[in-house]
Parts: sequence; C-alpha cells; structure tokens
Amino acid sequence: MTRRGSGRVLAAAVAFALLAALPARADGTLWQYSTLAALLAGSYDGRLSVGELARHGDLGLGTFNRVDGEMIVVDGQVWQVRADGRPAEPAAATLVPFAAVIPFMPDRRIRLPAGLDLAGLAAFLDGQVADRGLAQAIRIDGRFPRLKLRSEPAQSPPYRPLAEVLRDQVVLDLSDIEGTMVGFRFPSGLAALNVPGWHLHFISSDRRHGGHVLDLGTGPGAQAALQTVTRLETELLPGAAGLDDKPASATIRQIEGSGSK
Ligand SMILES: [Zn+2]
Repeated sequence: MTRRGSGRVLAAAVAFALLAALPARADGTLWQYSTLAALLAGSYDGRLSVGELARHGDLGLGTFNRVDGEMIVVDGQVWQVRADGRPAEPAAATLVPFAAVIPFMPDRRIRLPAGLDLAGLAAFLDGQVADRGLAQAIRIDGRFPRLKLRSEPAQSPPYRPLAEVLRDQVVLDLSDIEGTMVGFRFPSGLAALNVPGWHLHFISSDRRHGGHVLDLGTGPGAQAALQTVTRLETELLPGAAGLDDKPASATIRQIEGSGSK
C-alpha cells in the first residue's frame, strides 16, 4: 500500500471512530410534526402515521386526525384517549396532524413537593430550569390526590378553529389516582411552534384513564425527570393554515425592510 493510500485509510478510520464516538443524531432531538399555529387554525388532518411517529421518540404528546382525542407517548407506546377518557392503542396506520416526541434521556430527577396545583407545579418547575430559552421534556410519576383531565370529540370538516372545538371539551375529574404525566416546556417565544410553558398529558398506571392535564394536585413522593432540549426538528405540514397570516408577514417585511436600508 502506498503512503498516500494508508493515509486515506487512516483518515477514514479516524472519521469512523469519531462518528462512532458521537451520540446518534436522534439523541436529544425533539421531533415535531406540524406546528401549534397550524393546529390552532384548524389543520386537523396530517399524513404522519403513529408507526412513523414512534420511530422519532419514546415520550411525547399530540393529537390524532380530526382532533380525535389526546395522544400520550410513554415508554415507546402510543395511547389515544378519546372523549370517553379511556386510553386505547391506536393502529400503527392511524394518522396524526400534530405531535412532538423525543428519545427520552433525563438529565436530572426531582422529588416534587406535595400539595401543588398545576400553576404551583409550573412555577416550581420553572425554578428548576436554568435556561428558559431552551425547551424541556418531562416525565412525572406519582400519585395525584386530584386530577382534572380533558379530551375532545372528533371533528368533521369544515373544521372550526381549536379554541371553538375546545368549548366542547369533555372534562374528567379523578381523585387519588396513580400514573404518569409526560410533556414539554417551550419558551414563550416559540409559541407558534408548540405550547408555551408546561404542557402535560396523563395516563393512569392501570391504563384506564388519560387526557390533557387541566389541573392537578401533587401527592407525596411524586418524581419528575427532566431533559433539557437544545435541538428541535420540525416536519411542516403541507397546506397547513395559520402559518403565513398577512399581519405577521407584513411585520417581518417591515423590520427586514428598515434593517437593510
Ligand atoms: Zn394537550
């Protein structure tokens, strides 16, 4: 082998060793399908299947086409909680208009104080976040003395905006229930992308109840696991409403126009 040839082989070997040493690209990447702005505007039909979504992460939340219930992804299992409040396993071909998942690898664990409501929990968790310009993924396991969950009935086109749909939300009040909450915290500046602040979905340990968390009470011994997220990957939904409204575009053009002069 020539000197140059062995150099090339060495370079390739070094490159391979470096690649092997790096974590997989998916690690720590929060993967999202469509945006909150599109969902709020009534883009309720996506082309992403539950099976495809699950390849991007093992923890997360979202909804299903026609907003047919709340999605909870925990330990790699996708659950669908329709308006009856009962979790069911959707078929892998079931379609999704909006969801976010992450390969969950928590970087810290916190014991939660008892007696917090959702606002108190959010304030407590905010105090645990060093850099609020980053996103967080969270899992909470524990017993909840009280829990207020919601789901919503599936819609038919022409779709109404989500704020109107949620006037028909179905609320479930539970007491003394054990289970898992999963979700995210997004900075308020990313509000068009995903829900700003702490957004949690719940599933009970016996998998008989679930939904979007409207309020809660923390019991003793609940544990939170948190993962700081610095990398976001979003697959945009073609044809989505709500993302290119004229007022926002006009404002940006104005800023860019004055900046370039
Ligand atoms: Zn939700």
